[in-house]
Amino acid sequence: MKKLIMTCIVVLLFMVINEVTVASNNNGIVDPYQPITYEIMTSNIKELEKEFPELIETEVIGQSADDRDIILVKLGKGDTLVHINGSFHARERITTNIILKNIEDYANGYVNNSKILGYDVKELLDEVTIFFVPMVNPDGVDYTILGKESIKSPLLREEFDKIVEHPQSTWFTPGLRWKSNIRGIDLNRQWDFGWDEESRFDIDVPADAHFKGFEPHSEAEVKAMEKLSISNPFLIYAAYHTQGLEIYWYKYQQGEDLEEVKDITRKISNLTFFRPVPALNNIPQNFRSFSGYADWTAVELKKPSFTMEFAYRQYSEADFDKIYEPAKALGLLFAEEALNIKGNYNVEVIMEGELIQLFKSYEDGLEFVEKYTTEDMDIQMIKNQEIIYQRIGKPYFDDIKLMINEKGTGDIMTEYNEEALRYKGKTFLPLERLFDNFDMELHYYKELKLMVAQNKDNIVVMSLNNGSIYLNHDKISLDNGIMRYDEKLYISTEAVEFIFDVELNSLED
Ligand SMILES: [Zn+2]
Repeated sequence: MKKLIMTCIVVLLFMVINEVTVASNNNGIVDPYQPITYEIMTSNIKELEKEFPELIETEVIGQSADDRDIILVKLGKGDTLVHINGSFHARERITTNIILKNIEDYANGYVNNSKILGYDVKELLDEVTIFFVPMVNPDGVDYTILGKESIKSPLLREEFDKIVEHPQSTWFTPGLRWKSNIRGIDLNRQWDFGWDEESRFDIDVPADAHFKGFEPHSEAEVKAMEKLSISNPFLIYAAYHTQGLEIYWYKYQQGEDLEEVKDITRKISNLTFFRPVPALNNIPQNFRSFSGYADWTAVELKKPSFTMEFAYRQYSEADFDKIYEPAKALGLLFAEEALNIKGNYNVEVIMEGELIQLFKSYEDGLEFVEKYTTEDMDIQMIKNQEIIYQRIGKPYFDDIKLMINEKGTGDIMTEYNEEALRYKGKTFLPLERLFDNFDMELHYYKELKLMVAQNKDNIVVMSLNNGSIYLNHDKISLDNGIMRYDEKLYISTEAVEFIFDVELNSLED
């Protein structure tokens, strides 16, 4: 009898718990009342993409240190672009919930032609596309939810044990309050604006929070975000965090730029009731802001860039509704503001035929081109349909470090540490020296522009005219498979991987 009663209680309890889960599920794809792991996020995104194929497109923009994909979700149909990201900081992972919920709400709003807090979703998303990166730091987020077991790489686990043991990191609450990436580096103190001066917490080794790294942009997550940011013409950037109910907006703008960013900040503050930092009408002379993503984007890419702080320290996913309230329409506000300021940015920077940045002036554009593009790429600047700058890409020499690994086993075959040629974003190695390494004998038929390389197992025929490569009986076509420069022949890393069945891994940085 006792056993039966117990069983009944267990069954009842189970039903109650189930009821609660169902009730909070909102009947949608995204359940924001739970910690969202990398796996839940990727499955949510897949479902959203399936549900709204006309409106949502996804892309992988890079991999984290522990080899998780950093995913970009593009929402909308317009060519005016806005960028919003979340979970730079592991313990602020609820910003991923906010973003996923935004995506679902906005997509539903578009399809149902409904308004969100007065914003006409369809009208806005026909003009604007929002590029969301819901989880910049997936390894860190998974650690705060799943613990150390979530670290896949044995090497990273070893490094991680050292970080946790290190006395400096105990200054903070370890464990689930982890803020850094899984290598103990704070991804929002890594950015190359004022990075040298960054010493707010006096931490000079990897730690659970606040360590800026040994050099700027050293982390894979930061590199992926940098590439995304410089290769798309975003007009507004926003990074979602959760330490206070604040808007960090001021990045040393002056004149018109200052008025522009103040105006948007005022509107954000009216929508969210968050406090602008510094106050709009009282910017202290000594106000400093540096080494964060918003600092770097605002100063280097010269657009309004905001750090939004959505919650106080003590909260859980159960408090989602309250935290979400100010964020509900914020993405739409950014979309509307991007349309408002668009006309001020009429200098287009075009790389290899693609629009990559917009600026207010020729000088701003030129500064960007000189700092963030390499000389092997074709660049144009256009203002009012007139070409105001043009550069034809040409090959350049670069010192590189490569490891050539056997495919499958990953065994190191050889390390390659010398000069290479860069052209159109590809890397080319001196052909003779490389083939020598693989014991291949080389013949060049000048009139035919054909290279033939041979050893006891393989014969390779390469055409200098069209880049085609024949390996025994297989053929591949690569644009720029081999090229001739300064009387010497070079072969692309892609072609090397194909011919010798190897993997080339960069040892740079
Ligand atoms: Zn943060």
